[in-house]
Amino acid sequence: MSQIKYTLPESEIPKQWYNIAADMPNPMKPPLHPGTGQPVGPDDLAPLFPMALIEQEVSTQRWIDIPEEVLQILRLWRPTPLFRARRLEEALGTPAKIYYKYEGTSPAGSHKPNTSVAQAYYNKKEGVKRIATETGAGQWGSALSLACNFFGIEAKVYMVRISYEQKPYRRVLMETWGASVIPSPSNETEAGRKILAEDPNSTGSLGIAISEAVEDAASREDTKYALGSVLNHVLLHQTVVGLEAKKQMELAGDYPDVILGCCGGGSNFAGLTFPFLYDKIHGREIDVVGCEPTACPTMTRGHFHYDFGDTVGMTPLLPMHTLGHTFVPPGIHAGGLRYHGMAPLVSQLLNDELIRAEAFHQVECFDAAVMFARAEGIVPAPESSHAIRGAINEALKAKEEGKEKTILFLLSGHGHFDMSAYDAYFGKKLEEYELPPEELDKAWEAIKGLPSPQAA
Ligand SMILES: *Cc1c(COP(=O)(O)O)cnc(C)c1O
Repeated sequence: MSQIKYTLPESEIPKQWYNIAADMPNPMKPPLHPGTGQPVGPDDLAPLFPMALIEQEVSTQRWIDIPEEVLQILRLWRPTPLFRARRLEEALGTPAKIYYKYEGTSPAGSHKPNTSVAQAYYNKKEGVKRIATETGAGQWGSALSLACNFFGIEAKVYMVRISYEQKPYRRVLMETWGASVIPSPSNETEAGRKILAEDPNSTGSLGIAISEAVEDAASREDTKYALGSVLNHVLLHQTVVGLEAKKQMELAGDYPDVILGCCGGGSNFAGLTFPFLYDKIHGREIDVVGCEPTACPTMTRGHFHYDFGDTVGMTPLLPMHTLGHTFVPPGIHAGGLRYHGMAPLVSQLLNDELIRAEAFHQVECFDAAVMFARAEGIVPAPESSHAIRGAINEALKAKEEGKEKTILFLLSGHGHFDMSAYDAYFGKKLEEYELPPEELDKAWEAIKGLPSPQAA
């Protein structure tokens, strides 16, 4: 029998999250207060996040219990399946075995509800009535709307204007779950008004929308803020993905030589790879690869430096690979990979060479996505196509070298709301874009005056 799917029963959903901070050879540098330059304390973050999440943000405890109320909602779609991509292997004629973990079976169609549900739960428990957040392509806004709906919390979503206009169905999805959605920059916040005064036609960016949502939360007693990637607690919540995948690889009787995930802010990549990196830190040989777009090459070409998480400069300073908080990426179709920074935990692991990074052009990524869809059936999210490109390249390398190799990648979501991007690809309207060096110089200008991680 040639088994395709490796599934786990509900009883095998992990009961604890894995916190890699307990095992990193070098801890990440602390986030700094932009005013004082000192490490931020719980009190600095309390206006934005519930205390339970602040504690997770700084925790170095290896295993953290998942509350039963969160598990009960995760059961709606977890455990997610692990597939052996036999038809893709055949199409490639590779001796490599290719496995993929699929997170598109969640109601929102991506991995993001793994953290939105946990975040909404802790907010609810601490009496929060309303959550403000931003969304770029719409996936995080959808995931948070879903979770707020389950816990009876009001959701306010600042959606990057260009996506708001180009992806009306994402907005309707959020509204179906009861959220209110407005295009960013908006007139409702100081930050939005400032951007609009400079450029009334601004199409917005993730950094601007973050500024608006943070301001909204900071200025209202009943409201907190939620972030869908980058922060430690977000990456922590995603580790259910890798913990399940480890059990499923065991069912398959295999262990990966190479693991790949696409990288926007780093959360799906972290979710799959951190539980395997535990093994690597303890001596196992695994090649762990973050796949990013050449249009937003945070890890392959960015600076490792302290930088703001948002555009206006309201968040704490994070030690991360960054293209600068003023960076507005070109309108590539993988909207979820357009963030200027990379998660500090992922950045530190990159510094320590426990992981490496590769960048891909969007056209070669769509080539890979369409090949995948025709072999395996599932239409991937444009973000996920970067991991597929990376995995296919590894499989082709194995073919060239005549080597057996086991490849595992994360298919972070489906592309059912992204068909206009596929349409542009089939119509040959997608451009290859490589960030010009001047843009990197501009990035450096924006951050060079901020504290250096070497000094922290
Ligand atoms: C948001 C998103 C990403 C990028 O975010 P990460 O935090 O890097 O995971 C990737 N894939 C999908 C499907 C997404 O929705």
